[in-house]
Amino acid sequence: MRNIPAIFGSMVFNDKVMREKLPPEIYEAVKVSIDTGKPLELEVANAVAAAMKDWAIEKGVTHFTHWFQPMTGITAEKHDSFIKPKGDGVIMDFSGKSLVQGEPDASSFPSGGLRATFEARGYTAWDPSSYAFIKNNTLCIPTAFCAYNGQVLDKKTPLLRSMQALNKQALRILKLFGHTNVKKVNTTVGAEQEYFLIDKSVFEQRLDLLCCGRTLFGSKPPKGQEMDDHYFGAIKPRVAAFMQELDEELWKLGVLAKTKHNEVAPAQHELAPIFTTTNIATDHNQITMELMKSIAPRHGMACLLHEKPFAGVNGSGKHNNWSLSTDTGINLLEPGDTPDANAQFLLFLTAVIKAVDEYQDLLRMSAASAGNDHRLGANEAPPAIVSMFLGDELTEILEALCNGNGYSRRHKKTTLEIGVDFLPRFPKDTTDRNRTSPFAFTGNKFEFRMPGSSSSISGPNIVLNTIVADALCEFADELENSSNFTEDLNNLIKRTVKAHKRIIFNGNNYSEDWVREAEKRGLKNFKSTIEVLPCFIEPKNVAVFTKHGVLSEAEIHSRYEILLENYSKVLRIEALTMIEMSRKQIIPSVISYEKDLAATVEGMSNIGLTPAYEKELLRDLSLLLSALNGATVELERKVNAANGMEHFELAKYYHDEVLSSMNALRAVADELETKVAKKYWAFPTYTDLLYSVRL
Ligand code: ADP
Ligand code: MG
Repeated sequence: MRNIPAIFGSMVFNDKVMREKLPPEIYEAVKVSIDTGKPLELEVANAVAAAMKDWAIEKGVTHFTHWFQPMTGITAEKHDSFIKPKGDGVIMDFSGKSLVQGEPDASSFPSGGLRATFEARGYTAWDPSSYAFIKNNTLCIPTAFCAYNGQVLDKKTPLLRSMQALNKQALRILKLFGHTNVKKVNTTVGAEQEYFLIDKSVFEQRLDLLCCGRTLFGSKPPKGQEMDDHYFGAIKPRVAAFMQELDEELWKLGVLAKTKHNEVAPAQHELAPIFTTTNIATDHNQITMELMKSIAPRHGMACLLHEKPFAGVNGSGKHNNWSLSTDTGINLLEPGDTPDANAQFLLFLTAVIKAVDEYQDLLRMSAASAGNDHRLGANEAPPAIVSMFLGDELTEILEALCNGNGYSRRHKKTTLEIGVDFLPRFPKDTTDRNRTSPFAFTGNKFEFRMPGSSSSISGPNIVLNTIVADALCEFADELENSSNFTEDLNNLIKRTVKAHKRIIFNGNNYSEDWVREAEKRGLKNFKSTIEVLPCFIEPKNVAVFTKHGVLSEAEIHSRYEILLENYSKVLRIEALTMIEMSRKQIIPSVISYEKDLAATVEGMSNIGLTPAYEKELLRDLSLLLSALNGATVELERKVNAANGMEHFELAKYYHDEVLSSMNALRAVADELETKVAKKYWAFPTYTDLLYSVRL
C-alpha cells in the first residue's frame, strides 16, 4: 500500500516546502507577494530561485520552463537547462531573473493582431499564486504571458484580474454587513472533466481522430448508450489501472483528484477534483487534461477530450462548479444560520441572478467553440439557452419576497423580512435534482454545465467573475449611500429579483416547450458559435470588461479575432480531413468491394446462375459512390472558395456553407458503410471504436 499523504504534492514547490527551504524573511516576502500580487524584489527572487533549483535538482531535474497558457487553449513550455559554463565545465544555475521573467519568442502564438510579427517577443511573468511543480523531469513555473506593450496574450492574466475585480466588490458588500475582518474573497472552482478512452490501435487507424479529435464519418452502431449499462458501471481493469496511475500522478502534482466513474456513453468516463481557488483549479484542469492524454498510451489507449467524438452518442462537457469564499473560510453562497447571514446570502444570490440574466450572451459565448457546437442544444447536453435552476423551495422564497405574500411551506404562512427573519431551511439534497439546467444552484455553489470538455475553464470563469463583480458593484454603490440599510436591502433584493426572474427555470430544459417559453420570456437562444461570438464586442459587454479592468478594448478585439480564426481553422482542417479520407480510404475500399462483386456477378452468370441480388447491390454501390464523389468535389470547391475571405465573413462562410457540405458528404459515406462488407471498409467502425477496450 503506497503512502498517499506522503506522495501528495511531492512534486510541488508548495507552502510546506517553501517554509522548510526558505529563510524566514524570504518566506514572508513570498507570502506577501502571493496574497497581494505584489512583484518580488530581485533579492527575494534570487533566494527563491536558488531554493527551487536545489529542490528540483534533488529530484533529478535538469531543466526549467515558464509554463503558460496562450490563446491556443492548451499550455505552452520552452525548456531551458540550468547549466552555466564555468571554467572547462558547467555549474547548475537558476537566477531570480529567470524565475520571475522569461522571454519566449512568441511570434507563433495567436495574438489577434495585438502584436506585429517584428515584435516577436512576448514575456512571461511568474504567478506566485500558483506553485511551481515538476512535470516530466522539468521544473514548471506557472506564468502569465504578455506582449511587450503589456497587453495580455494568455488565459491566465485576465482570470487573475477578474478574481481581483470580484474580490474588490465582494469586500465592499461584506463591509456593509460588518465583516471588516475579511481581507480577501476568492472564487472557488471544481471542474468535472469528462473524457473517452479507446484502444490505441483503433485510434491510430482513424485519420479523423488523429487530426481532429472527433470522428467525421461513422454510421450508428447497433448498440449505443440506450441500455444505460455503462453509467456508473463496473470499471474495466485496464481503465482502472489508467485511472489509478492518473490519480497518483495528479496527487504528486497537488491536484485533488477525488471521484472517478464511468459516464453515460460507452467508453466515456469522468474525473472530478475537490474544488480550490479558481486560478489553481484552472491550472490543475490543464494539467489533468495533459496527463490524461499522456498516460493513456502507457495503457495501450488513447484519451479523447473532444466535446463530440462520436455523433449520436453522448458528448463530453466540463461542469464548472463555482462559488465564493472568504479568507476566513465562509462560503458566501451558503445560506447562513442567522437572519443577517441569510440576508447576505440572498444578496449574493441576487447578484448572480442579475449577472446571469444581464450577461446571458457572454456566458453562452464563454462556452462556444466549434467542438461544443455539436453538443450544446443537441438533446443530451444543456440547451443553448442560458437559464438558472434554483430549485422549487428557493424559487418560492424569492417569489414570496417579491410579492409580499409570505412563504407557505409546511402549511404555515410566514412573511419574510430580509435581515430580520430567518430563511426557512431547505434541504440541500433536493436542490440538485435537475440535471438539464445549464446553470444550477446546488446548495452552496452554482454549476455551470455548458463548457466543453476540451476547453480551458479560464474563459467561463473570467466571465462569471466579471459579471458578478459588476452586479455586486452596483449593489454596493446603492447600499453604501443608504440611510436605512435593512429597508433598502429589502427593496434592492425585491426589485432585482423582480427584474430578472425570467432567467429562473426549474423545469425540463430539454423540452420543446421550454424553447418556446424562453422565447416568450425574451431569453437569448444562440444556436452556434458564429451566432454568439459577435456579442463579445458589443458595447455593453466591452463596457463591463473594461470597467473592472479585466480586458481592455484592444484585448477584447484581439480575442474576438482569435476565436473567429480558430473556428475557421478547425472547420477547414475537418473539411480537408474528410476529403482525404473520402478519396484515399473510402472510395478505394468501395471500389475493391465492387471489383470482387463484379467478378462474382460474372462468375455466376458464366455457370448459368442469375446474380439478381449481387447486381442490385452493385448498382446501389455504384450510385452511392458517384454521390460520394460528387459530395467530395463539392466540399473541395467550397473550401477553395473561402480563399480571400477573413475574420467574421470567413467563419460565417465555414458555418453556413462548408459545414453543410461536410454533413452531406458524411451522410453518403455513412450509408455506404452500411452496405460495404466489413473486411473492405478502410477504417474501424463505431462499434470497433466504442467497444475497443474490453478488459
Ligand atoms: P455532484 O455534482 O456529483 O453532486 P459534488 O456536489 O460533490 O458532486 O461536487 C461537484 C464538484 O463541485 C466537485 O468538484 C466539488 O469539489 C465542487 N464543489 C463543491 N463545493 C464547491 C465550492 N464551494 N466551490 C466550488 N466548487 C465546489
Ligand atoms: Mg456535476
